[in-house]
Amino acid sequence: MKIICIGRNYVNHAKELGNEVPKEPLFFLKPDSAVLPKKQPLFYPSFTKDLHYEVEVVVKINRLGKHIEERFAHKYYNQIGLGIDFTARDIQQECKEKGLPWEKAKSFDGSAILGNKFLSIEEIGGDVNNIDFSLFKNQELVQTGNTKDMMFTIDKIIAYISQFYTLKIGDLIFTGTPAGVGPVSIGDQLEGFLQEEQLIKLNIK
Ligand code: MG
Repeated sequence: MKIICIGRNYVNHAKELGNEVPKEPLFFLKPDSAVLPKKQPLFYPSFTKDLHYEVEVVVKINRLGKHIEERFAHKYYNQIGLGIDFTARDIQQECKEKGLPWEKAKSFDGSAILGNKFLSIEEIGGDVNNIDFSLFKNQELVQTGNTKDMMFTIDKIIAYISQFYTLKIGDLIFTGTPAGVGPVSIGDQLEGFLQEEQLIKLNIK
């Protein structure tokens, strides 16, 4: 299983970090070892002093495919979930300045949080281009988004990345974060919602 993450897919987030808005999807990978096992807390990694949450809608691939046309992309998934793309922002900044890959800042153990379940497209209301999602930190709303504000839709993302990677059953696509990313500290609790449903409850230790 691989995890493909899209960066800067919401204009308001690209701008908050002072980045240009990309003309084509920007992506990077996380290994399967990045997934935090269910019900475990995230232990604040010792190599960063600026660990940031990024709440994202996650798409689970259910069919093998390569060079998928956008008009057929919807046939390659039927479950939607919620995730957090944890980022060591200080290390990412260093990588960016040096023109180095981002993996060190993005792909460490525990950097991929997944909700406790995926929902069918029917359960999320039938339209993947109109999904509300949000993240609360210590009961305060910190991020809110809707997939209608994505620059590249889920189907466009699948068409684009499948030119480079064969998509396999079980692969996950983190589709980008809206504005409001920020730091966590030891003792914080994060709670994530997809539409009305709470899928994430995570303690930072
Ligand atoms: Mg992200």
